[in-house]
Amino acid sequence: MTLHIPFDNSYATLPGGFYTRLNPTPVKGADMLAWNTTLADELRIEGTDPTVFAGTTVPDGAAPLAQLYAGHQFGNYNPQLGDGRAILLGEVIDHHGKRRDIQLKGSGPTPYSRMGDGRAWLGPVLREYVVSEAMHALGIPTTRALAAVATGEPVYREQGALPGAVLTRIASSHLRVGTFQIFAHRGHIDELRTLTDYAIARHHPDVDGPMGLLKAVCAAQAELVAAWMSVGFIHGVMNTDNCTISGETIDYGPCAFMDAYHEGRVFSSIDQTGRYAYGNQPRIAVWNMAQLATALIQLFDDKEQAVEDATAIVHAMPELLQAAWLRRFGAKIGLADATPDDQPLIEGLLSLMQTDGADFTNTFAALPTDTARDQFTDRDAFDTWHTRWQVRTPDPTLMAHTNPQIIPRNHRIEAMIDAAVAGDMAPFHRLMTALATPYQATDTDLHRPPTQQEIVPATFCGT
Ligand code: AMP
Ligand code: MG
Repeated sequence: MTLHIPFDNSYATLPGGFYTRLNPTPVKGADMLAWNTTLADELRIEGTDPTVFAGTTVPDGAAPLAQLYAGHQFGNYNPQLGDGRAILLGEVIDHHGKRRDIQLKGSGPTPYSRMGDGRAWLGPVLREYVVSEAMHALGIPTTRALAAVATGEPVYREQGALPGAVLTRIASSHLRVGTFQIFAHRGHIDELRTLTDYAIARHHPDVDGPMGLLKAVCAAQAELVAAWMSVGFIHGVMNTDNCTISGETIDYGPCAFMDAYHEGRVFSSIDQTGRYAYGNQPRIAVWNMAQLATALIQLFDDKEQAVEDATAIVHAMPELLQAAWLRRFGAKIGLADATPDDQPLIEGLLSLMQTDGADFTNTFAALPTDTARDQFTDRDAFDTWHTRWQVRTPDPTLMAHTNPQIIPRNHRIEAMIDAAVAGDMAPFHRLMTALATPYQATDTDLHRPPTQQEIVPATFCGT
């Protein structure tokens, strides 16, 4: 099969300290399970070749490399992480003139693999494919999925031998807070400066210097986390190595969309203390930006001034988050012009939902209809809220555009993975079709919350 990828690589022209050049490790098979035609067109990729997306063949023009980074994991600094199971093939300029990374995930060991095998199994690959594409359809910034290929080789995890797979991930870049941290922490100021200039040129060309970059990243992350909150998304591992400079969602590991609303909801089996619980996400985003600020301060001779400037920028972030949250949740209850005076109204609804364990997605989706009260056991309390709400004359059209009918529910993803492992890709395609138009009520069976038996209590990092 012929494949043409119009590579235009920039990261590979940076000094060698930023990465290790190496090819993906070839595998036995290359069974294309999913291929994103629309995205391929957007990236100006012509044709396809499963062996390229399995990592067996290196395409013309690629400059394969593993990127170096560090990061805080659950609050503890890990001085060296890096692409332990991913290879950046290179970059293309897409149809809109935007630079995009093409990365293979699960493509074999690298110098940064530590104890890992560099591989991924089918489950997490399809989970990321479905959830990242659903996120995109919801209009939320995210990395994308171009391809999922079965390698024909087993991968060994706690559950035993599992089918191996490779995901092709597309990102505006893979620059993370952790990419800055590693050079700052090592005192490699020249590299830190090169990286900062590169990040500004690539993502925020209009900003002025490192503080301008910090401000822009704070704004992008505030918007992102408010968007997650508005669809009940819990990222699960908001470590600084999983926090992008572009403001895209990255690394769909033990993530999930909530069914029943609870502010303290945690899915990840490794998040014992609830650090990355739903309601903590805004605070963690600020914490992550404080780590970026700490790294960028190293670029300044006048440290005292730099600390003062960076602190002001980070301290302004809660207000950005609050404003973005109010705008999004205001729109969810049909208010285009929500003001801080509306906050108790929004919180009043969330509080009723939490008490009743009401389904997050279905409650908001039902608000414009007269079935919303069916989501509650305490109907009187809901009716009282409803009367208060009607005074504000909510706009049903706005609600229809801001409240998805369908999100990738965890139990459906688990069932889809089980089917795929057994060789049946039909549930995958069914989910992909329905999730492509999340604001329309098609395939209503997929709207149903899990039954008691179907509830998936935790998602696992065993990727
Ligand atoms: P994550 O939790 O997916 O963000 O990964 C954290 C770090 O662990 C990154 O440096 C990954 O490259 C690395 N890692 C995760 N899984 C594997 C694996 N199976 N083999 C090698 N490295 C891995
Ligand atoms: Mg990661």
